[in-house]
Amino acid sequence: MTTTAPAAAPAQGSGEIQDAGHVDVLIVGAGVSGIGAAHHLRDQFPDRTFVILDAQDHRGGTWWTHRYPGVRSDSDLFTYGYRFKPWRGPSIAAGEEILAYLDEVIDEDDLGPYIRCRHRVTAASWSTGDRRWTVEVTRGDTGQLVRFTAGFLWMCQGYYNHARPYRPQWEGMDRFQGLVIHPQRWPGDLDLAGKRVVVIGSGATAATLIPAIAGQAEHVTMLQRSPSYFYAPPTTHELAVMLDPLDLPDEWMHEIMRRQYITQYHWLARTSFEAPDELHAFLIESMRPLLPEGFDIEKHFTPRYRPWQQRIAVVPDGDLFAALREGKASIVTDTIETFTEHGIKVSSGEEIPAGVVVTATGFNLSVLGDVAFTVDGEPVDFTERVTWRGIMLNGLPNMAYVFGYFRHSWTLRVDLVSDLVGRLLATMQDKGATMVVPTLRPQDADMQLRPWSDPENFNPGYVRRSQHILFKQGDREPWTHMLEHEQEREILPEADLDDGTLVYR
Ligand SMILES: Cc1cc2nc3c(=O)[nH]c(=O)nc-3n(C[C@H](O)[C@H](O)[C@H](O)COP(=O)(O)OP(=O)(O)OC[C@H]3O[C@@H](n4cnc5c(N)ncnc54)[C@H](O)[C@@H]3O)c2cc1C
Repeated sequence: MTTTAPAAAPAQGSGEIQDAGHVDVLIVGAGVSGIGAAHHLRDQFPDRTFVILDAQDHRGGTWWTHRYPGVRSDSDLFTYGYRFKPWRGPSIAAGEEILAYLDEVIDEDDLGPYIRCRHRVTAASWSTGDRRWTVEVTRGDTGQLVRFTAGFLWMCQGYYNHARPYRPQWEGMDRFQGLVIHPQRWPGDLDLAGKRVVVIGSGATAATLIPAIAGQAEHVTMLQRSPSYFYAPPTTHELAVMLDPLDLPDEWMHEIMRRQYITQYHWLARTSFEAPDELHAFLIESMRPLLPEGFDIEKHFTPRYRPWQQRIAVVPDGDLFAALREGKASIVTDTIETFTEHGIKVSSGEEIPAGVVVTATGFNLSVLGDVAFTVDGEPVDFTERVTWRGIMLNGLPNMAYVFGYFRHSWTLRVDLVSDLVGRLLATMQDKGATMVVPTLRPQDADMQLRPWSDPENFNPGYVRRSQHILFKQGDREPWTHMLEHEQEREILPEADLDDGTLVYR
């Protein structure tokens, strides 16, 4: 058996669809999820053929798309890193360091030859007769249309549109004489020296970007409609500092720090549900000593939602607060009335001068990479589908997707989902099945369908804006998702793959 599909040679300009061959498993996306999935696939099934397709011109997903100054993880890298590959740096890492870590995984697993960049998947059609997916691809470099076939489709496309960031339109934008930039499209040669910058947004991106550019620009104003939660842990965990002189093997250090962070984040997630007021008070009070004397913490840093109902933004070593203390940055909490020629006017009547406006306003959520799916000729309407454990969808054969945690490192779920997909492929093999399809049982007929995300549980803007295009969840296992890692690390490895909700043929 060969280990990859034949390389698709560009046939520039021809309108024909080029046949790129057949693989056992086709992975969409070369970010943290796709690279992790490929590692586990190779590890468990060295003889299966596969290919990883990504629309962008480089691997890395989120960390390739977001290259604005200061871009870094919110999570510690011991849990954001894979279970199988020790992290050797400080807990919080810069985007470039994460890309370097992913490159090491690609090198060590020799995944490079299997990654095809500039391959945007536009359509995927399942044929029960042929027991395979036909996947239509447009090459970003040549415009050539390419067709792969695959026995199993593993969607690792992330959750947002990389090419089209979310940027609301505000009145007067056309008369603004400065530059408007979205962090998803940061110009590499941008010089902010002597410029007044307004960053619109209150989330992790704004909090990361502001301290990174505060030394360069004349002044940076964070303009937010409403406040978010921030937490300022040390860049390197105190336990890592204590363990450092012991010169432990990298694998030990990785495992010890993973357990430490997992325990810490379990506590945080649990407390957000069981004692939200206490957690709220803890987060607010831990910021107070880091802010300038007399700072209006009630107005600028006291959110109106429960902690973890939206992500808590991490500011390692409190660098955002340092920029505020040093007077290099300031915060305005207000709504935008209009852009003017030289800045932004807010509802209070204040005009904030700006030469550059950065719209750290977030994402457009994308459902399974905006791929048009059909099953036996019928277009798939995702709003009518129900998730199977946040890994598959009812009625979609031989297809798994990866969606990580919100309150924990995304990657913890990549490893868990990959284990389950591995078990699923092995079960198919044992049964001699060429097809597995999540199917609602007769006893699920009366199941109450719920939104993809319960707004009480998790409700950031990009989820609220897109709930209507997303698939659903049910009121019982295995038709639920958005469980916490603390539950899933017990449930997923034990999940019964023969409980009647997966039909093998
Ligand atoms: C700035 C920033 C910081 C973050 N920090 C953290 C953090 O600290 N901790 C955490 O847990 N999470 C964090 N996240 C969330 C982050 O998105 C996930 O952690 C993780 O990177 C998702 O990985 P992924 O591989 O699933 O998806 P992505 O990183 O989104 O990569 C998906 C890839 O699939 C490709 N793709 C999509 N559709 C198609 C298609 N139709 N055809 C071909 N290719 C396609 C895309 O081009 C992309 O390269 C952060 C997000 C951002 C934006």
